[in-house]
Amino acid sequence: MDIFEKCEKFTRVDEAKAQGIYPYFHELRSRPDNVVNMEGTEVIMVGSNNYLGLTSDDEVIKAGVAAVKKFGSGCSGSRFLNGTITLHTKFEAELAEFLGKEACMTFGTGFQSNLGIIAGITSRHDIIFSDRENHASIYDACKLSYATTVRFNHNDMTHLEELLKEAPKNKGKLIVTDGVFSMSGEVCNLPEIVRLAKKYDARVMVDDAHSLGVLGNHGRGTASHFGLEKDVDIIMGTFSKSLASMGGFCAASERVVNYLRHNSRPYIFCAALAPANVACANKALDIIKKDDSRQKNLIKMSKYFSDGIIKRGLKCLKFDITTPIVAIYTYDPVNTFIACQKLFENGVYVNPVIPPAVPEGECLIRTSLMATHTTELLDKAMDTIEAVLKSLEQK
Ligand code: PMP
Repeated sequence: MDIFEKCEKFTRVDEAKAQGIYPYFHELRSRPDNVVNMEGTEVIMVGSNNYLGLTSDDEVIKAGVAAVKKFGSGCSGSRFLNGTITLHTKFEAELAEFLGKEACMTFGTGFQSNLGIIAGITSRHDIIFSDRENHASIYDACKLSYATTVRFNHNDMTHLEELLKEAPKNKGKLIVTDGVFSMSGEVCNLPEIVRLAKKYDARVMVDDAHSLGVLGNHGRGTASHFGLEKDVDIIMGTFSKSLASMGGFCAASERVVNYLRHNSRPYIFCAALAPANVACANKALDIIKKDDSRQKNLIKMSKYFSDGIIKRGLKCLKFDITTPIVAIYTYDPVNTFIACQKLFENGVYVNPVIPPAVPEGECLIRTSLMATHTTELLDKAMDTIEAVLKSLEQK
């Protein structure tokens, strides 16, 4: 059989393009602000993870430019051998301190951080307990690891406890969860996870990709939100969202970080994060340390938006803790793609979420808010979303 046969048979994309509803790879022709130029059309951006709007901040951009001038455009090598520059060590120390951890190490992306942390810290003698709605990078990290992986039903603490109870006492145990789940915006039940980890002698790792800059004291994340900084063993996060750059990190005890620095293959065998990426993320961190007004406005805008969507009679996921992710039901995949296309044509950009990211029949449009949104912009976006979704309901 020809290994490329599946490529020939993969025609779903061609069909969606022929129908004019293909929703991916739209090209931006401007910075990712609250309003963007997408393929020549001006649209309100409600589909970006630039939560604090810092990608356009003058100070952040200036820091990146200065780093390129001083350290060049790339590191050309692994941190391990020839890619460590003063920017990395300074930023790692500051990030560790910000998160209340002894040490921190940075990776090339958030995705790679999960691969490097999970596969690096676990061995064939261990068990990983992973929430079913965890990010794809955690799924892949578990595959890469030699540990046994068991999945607990999403945020289902009874199920997690059953699995922990069944696990042999002599196995190392790691519970891994997203802090804020990326598709729904729901926050994990960290207090209960921590309680169970203590009871069953497990360690806790939280993926704070969507919580950093969003939850907790000045955006310190999920552990800070719940006052559980000391009880989360590993905080993983990314620079590609609130920190306005790219890259990822692991913050943990000095011994854990030291071990990973010498045993994590995605860390050792990969080029170091480029100078501009480190400098921009570090500057974004400086800004959020000094001033939490962006975080406060982000939460205010997020509440305004989710209340407005509900008031307009649209069905969205709603949780006790407000996060910038508001997911609105569109149910069926074709309906979801049509909704995204119509919204785009009417000046609003959102993200489609279809299986396997969500169960069959539970498709969503995922909207995400920014600190730089205004109520006027959001009113316009919500009115358009209401008009488009209601017009589709009637068909
Ligand atoms: N974890 C979660 C929960 C995410 O949502 C993402 C990216 N969307 C990642 C990890 C990967 O981060 P990055 O895109 O920075 O590689």
